[in-house]
Amino acid sequence: MSNTKYIFVTGGVTSSLGKGIISASLAKLIQARGYTVTIQKLDPYINVDPGTLNPYEHGECYVTEDGAETDLDLGHYERFINLPTSQENNVTTGRIYQTVINKERRGDYLGKTVQVIPHITDEIKRNIQLLGKKHNYDVVITEIGGTVGDIESLPYIEAVRQLKWELGVHNSLFVHLTLVPYLSASGELKTKPTQHSVKLMLENGIQPDILVLRTEHPLNTDIKKKVALFCNVNIESVIQSIDVSTIYEVPLLMKEERLDIIALQKLNLPENEEPKLKKWKEFINNFKNPQKEITVGLIGKYIELPDSYKSIIESMVHAGTVNKCKVIIKSIHSEKIKEDNVAVILKDVQGIIVAPGFGQRGIEGKIIAVKHVRENNIPFLGICLGMQCAVIEFGRNVLGLKDADSTEMSRITTNPVIDLMEDQKGVTEKGGTMRLGSYPCKVVKGSKVFEIYNEENIKERHRHRYEFNNHYIEKFENAGMKPAGLNPDSGLVEIMEISEHRWFIGVQFHPEYRSTVVNPHPLFVNFVKEICKD
Ligand code: GLN
Repeated sequence: MSNTKYIFVTGGVTSSLGKGIISASLAKLIQARGYTVTIQKLDPYINVDPGTLNPYEHGECYVTEDGAETDLDLGHYERFINLPTSQENNVTTGRIYQTVINKERRGDYLGKTVQVIPHITDEIKRNIQLLGKKHNYDVVITEIGGTVGDIESLPYIEAVRQLKWELGVHNSLFVHLTLVPYLSASGELKTKPTQHSVKLMLENGIQPDILVLRTEHPLNTDIKKKVALFCNVNIESVIQSIDVSTIYEVPLLMKEERLDIIALQKLNLPENEEPKLKKWKEFINNFKNPQKEITVGLIGKYIELPDSYKSIIESMVHAGTVNKCKVIIKSIHSEKIKEDNVAVILKDVQGIIVAPGFGQRGIEGKIIAVKHVRENNIPFLGICLGMQCAVIEFGRNVLGLKDADSTEMSRITTNPVIDLMEDQKGVTEKGGTMRLGSYPCKVVKGSKVFEIYNEENIKERHRHRYEFNNHYIEKFENAGMKPAGLNPDSGLVEIMEISEHRWFIGVQFHPEYRSTVVNPHPLFVNFVKEICKD
């Protein structure tokens, strides 16, 4: 029997208030007080997972060790609590319905009408409790996506309402996040949207226990009192969440506001020791006091929405901070890069990252950028498609294979330097069928990458279909682009590097999914370190 306590985080008034960051911050604080904790995200859309969504729709798709394609909030969770999440940490309406419909087809509900209540709500409750039951966490924080009042959030709200009673007193807690807007014309902070949002929660049968109020200006005691009075909570449970310069400061801010203590009290859990946050504070201190500044170009085709490359950008924040260096990311649209403007576009960057991606659009610009940095000895990190572009560029311009390409871009190329593996060839379904999740990689001794990792056996997460075509391995090696990491089971090339170059590394995997605040990823750290030498 598990004694897991459950915290539900809901949001009101508007979306994008940062429920994910508040959930991750609360988890961080509870964890720092000696509890085991995980965070789960419930997403109210009908896709089974976000894997088939365009980044413009939903931002980056985050991949867990077990190969689940998930919401980008899971990236925040891992970066804050420094522990891996899994498929169980992200559940969508699509997944819930899929399970219920499969059960119905199997005859599990034989004779019954299958309905939202109880069948869908039961399946939601089962998914919420799964983590606690399986892993016996002390606390599971479940963030409910969307905003209260949305039609699609209703089954989730109903499910957690029921769960509160089933779990019994002191075993669950509702944290509701809202916005207190500032009207500059009258110079006032307004609480009415919060009052309305709590009313909506009450209509659905839930009284929030703690209110976290997002605000651009400090809330005085009168405002807190007013919210407490109208929203049936005591004043200590009205928490201010003021805008800060970095999301990583939010846990410290929430500690000052005593969010963790109030949550633990309401769950009848002892406060234990003061949270151990030494490393975290050091990080914030370094972040705020950089001694250098560098500019790195991030070349991609989804740059209009910075969330598309969330984990890469955060990895660079971590890497910059440990190097006591402020990293300015210059997002560069790959479609804009041409032979005749590449030098101008890349003039003010000291290194480039070529981002992951899918499909033909923007590919030639990436290849031109790689050629420029390869020839001019400018540090280069290619991630997934970024590595594939480096291979294509080298094939075309160094090996003289004029039509070198990936078969993703050209089916008729006579030099498929990047190609589909046999086991991908028969795949027709798009959802969840890529090479996904954590795979081992053996790093080649003597390579630059070996120096960086200082380890021979590493594990990194993948999300792609195409691979380096081993048929060309010798040609590349002889010309100076060498495989520096191989999958020990399949022999697939996971890392390519040019040792004669100052810093030129392409990785087929996604190192950005593994970088956390207290454990920044060595590849990014070393990349920044190299650029800092300028
Ligand atoms: N489109 C490429 C592939 O499927 C690269 C994917 C990626 O960059 N994540 O192999």
